[in-house]
Amino acid sequence: MASQEDVFKKLIAHSKEYGFVFPSSEIYDGLGAVYDYGQNGVELKNNIKKYWWDSMVLLHENVVGIDAAIFMHPTTWKASGHVDAFNDPLIDNKDSKKRYRADVLIEDLMAKYDEKINKEVEKAAKRFGDSFDAELFKQTNPRVLENSAKKNEIHTRFVKALNDSDLAELKQIIVDYEVVCPISGTKNWTDVRQFNLMFSTEMGSTADGALTVYLRPETAQGIFVNYLNVQKTGRMRIPFGIAQIGKAFRNEIVARQFIFRMREFEQMEMQFFVKPGTELEYFNKWKETRMKWHKALGFGDNKYRFHDHDKLAHYANAATDIEFEMPFGFKEVEGIHSRTDFDLSSHEKYSGKNIKYFDPEINESYTPYVVETSIGVDRMFLSVMASAYQEEALENGETRVVLKFPSALAPVKLCVMPLVKKDGLPELARQIIDDLKFDFKCAYDEKDSIGKRYRRQDAIGTPFCVTVDHDSLNDNCVTIRHRDTMQQERVKISDLENIIGKAVSMKELFKKIAEK
Ligand code: ATP
Repeated sequence: MASQEDVFKKLIAHSKEYGFVFPSSEIYDGLGAVYDYGQNGVELKNNIKKYWWDSMVLLHENVVGIDAAIFMHPTTWKASGHVDAFNDPLIDNKDSKKRYRADVLIEDLMAKYDEKINKEVEKAAKRFGDSFDAELFKQTNPRVLENSAKKNEIHTRFVKALNDSDLAELKQIIVDYEVVCPISGTKNWTDVRQFNLMFSTEMGSTADGALTVYLRPETAQGIFVNYLNVQKTGRMRIPFGIAQIGKAFRNEIVARQFIFRMREFEQMEMQFFVKPGTELEYFNKWKETRMKWHKALGFGDNKYRFHDHDKLAHYANAATDIEFEMPFGFKEVEGIHSRTDFDLSSHEKYSGKNIKYFDPEINESYTPYVVETSIGVDRMFLSVMASAYQEEALENGETRVVLKFPSALAPVKLCVMPLVKKDGLPELARQIIDDLKFDFKCAYDEKDSIGKRYRRQDAIGTPFCVTVDHDSLNDNCVTIRHRDTMQQERVKISDLENIIGKAVSMKELFKKIAEK
């Protein structure tokens, strides 16, 4: 069986070969951790964004959207804490000259102990068969106990070091547990230093005193500074939310793992403004709603888990991540944070403007508390690609590579294929596309054998292939072939819109999310 790493490599190669993701400015050898989306990638990405956007603004009467500018007044980032505290602890290996995030090295170290434990459990499960009690084994097996004690010891030190911002202790953990650089294999480390992740640039000419502005590192602040504009002009009453999709920029130190960690990426964020004291109730509600959104895609409930934060950001009173099982392990895809009134109070202080909400129900003004849901489009894209990508052994001995996207997200919904390039079949195929193109992204393919054409569509995840043959000219029927089952059926041309429309509609997904 292929290792997870091989699968990931294949996925990256496939993404490029089939027009999903290209390295940025590739003809100049690319730019670190910056990527472009190709002709199929952009369709998939747009569909993911639509799935998120509509799930926010259609399903919730009290959630509306905005689209704020990337540049913001520089004081915004002072108020938000990003100028002073948006740092990563970094450490260099003196031999390989490679730079790492100290916290990531320690997290990977802990994951290794988890792996060891899991291996012991798997081995024992095989040995003992049906009567195996994994929990009991974990509580009693000496090797498992030793590994989990080590992991807990590291964990306790790590959390304390993060909370105390103790950089020397972070390094000490790396030294004590003999973490080696994966490139040089040595333990020759520099001290840990803080590194600010914001990109800055100049606005205006230097003659009139250029202003240093930042490329926003998150979209959330555009919502905070506009919340009162939206509340007043939209006559919104608390609780209400503001949703936004947009680019964010971070000068990530360790930018690896393809589109998982990029320097330019896109976020989908929703800030929900609530009455102080009710925030944890809404935090739990949004946790549940967001998990349903993920699970509705049908990749398997076991692919997701919540991971509560070890260290709460200075502004948060509750925080969790939704993690997804990527080819390189469970990783954060989305964060859900209860941010208290930190941001709004801070903007009030720095701007000197009153941005309190007047609550007509209690006849009082207050600064709302905020619960946010924040998901990266690109990480979501990667999780969809990783789950969809499958290599299937066929009965005839061949392998087919197929992207089993949920039909609602698939970049191309159908491909229409005339059996041969003559006898009026191409004309009928074109006519079918002309009828369906208003609703669905359609493709046309007349080259090579039907089998080859099916494979090409499988490789980009097209849920339906429609073949026009000589009989079609008389009976007005075509053969529709389903991507996942590869089954074919004869249907009326006039039924295509209905059949495909039902299968690719997002409505069924939304119903699952809205279910009580
Ligand atoms: P990480 O711990 O992985 O650096 P984070 O906790 O800093 O992520 P948040 O600030 O909570 O991330 O951002 C919310 C979401 O934005 C993340 O869950 C992720 O999906 C996405 N995101 C953050 N940084 C990046 C990045 N460099 N590249 C792609 N997506 C990102």
